[in-house]
Amino acid sequence: MIDTHCHFDFSPFREAPESYWQAAREKGVTRMVVPSVSEDNWSAVLSLTERLHGVYAGLGLHPCFLDAHTDTSLDKLERALSARPTRCVAVGEAGLDFVVANQNTAQQRQHALLEGQLWLARHYDLPIILHSRKAHNPLLRAVKAYPGIRGVLHAFSGSEQQGKQFIDAGLMLGVGGTVTYSRAQKTRRAIAQLPLEHLVLETDAPDMPLAGFQGKPNTPSQVSRVADVVAELKGCDKDHLMTETSDNAERLFGFD
Ligand SMILES: [Zn+2]
Repeated sequence: MIDTHCHFDFSPFREAPESYWQAAREKGVTRMVVPSVSEDNWSAVLSLTERLHGVYAGLGLHPCFLDAHTDTSLDKLERALSARPTRCVAVGEAGLDFVVANQNTAQQRQHALLEGQLWLARHYDLPIILHSRKAHNPLLRAVKAYPGIRGVLHAFSGSEQQGKQFIDAGLMLGVGGTVTYSRAQKTRRAIAQLPLEHLVLETDAPDMPLAGFQGKPNTPSQVSRVADVVAELKGCDKDHLMTETSDNAERLFGFD
């Protein structure tokens, strides 16, 4: 199993990354992608990929961390990507978050950073890891302006039709804890219907606790429970689901 989205440089993991990674491996997690949020944590994320076997990085500028980005951040990102080690397998986390950015100026800055990162992803032929909250349509328009782009819309929640639109634009859908909540009927129906070859699993740990685990930090080990629920929604066995979604992630990120 592959956790395609885990902020493993955040607390509580950063205090004991080896033991958390060991626990995840014991649950059958073989690989994990750790996206970064700003230039401040690129080196921390890259150093995790050196310390822990099976851990890969994305380098990017997250839309919720606008205060950490400057006018030179995209240039620095380009330099970091051009000198990237093989375990840097993606651009991201990038995207739009109109819950955090509810003003025009902030939304425009998010857009500019997104455009820059879409350009870089295509330029370096890397997949892009995308975040979207209350911004599905503008995000879709931005992605469609870069034909040939590859990537993943992480923490997908939405309708089957929205899922199809993102798949048609070249993205995979990252499926995480949302589907474990029975109230998430629309997303659960969408995941049941959408083609398995475009789905990957994730936790978004330490955020997005699964149903029944609210109030505790989420961990990459929980991707196993996400797999249980997705297999149930798809009506297939868990082994099949794990193999297929891992193949999808391998195809997308091209792990060494
Ligand atoms: Zn994230």
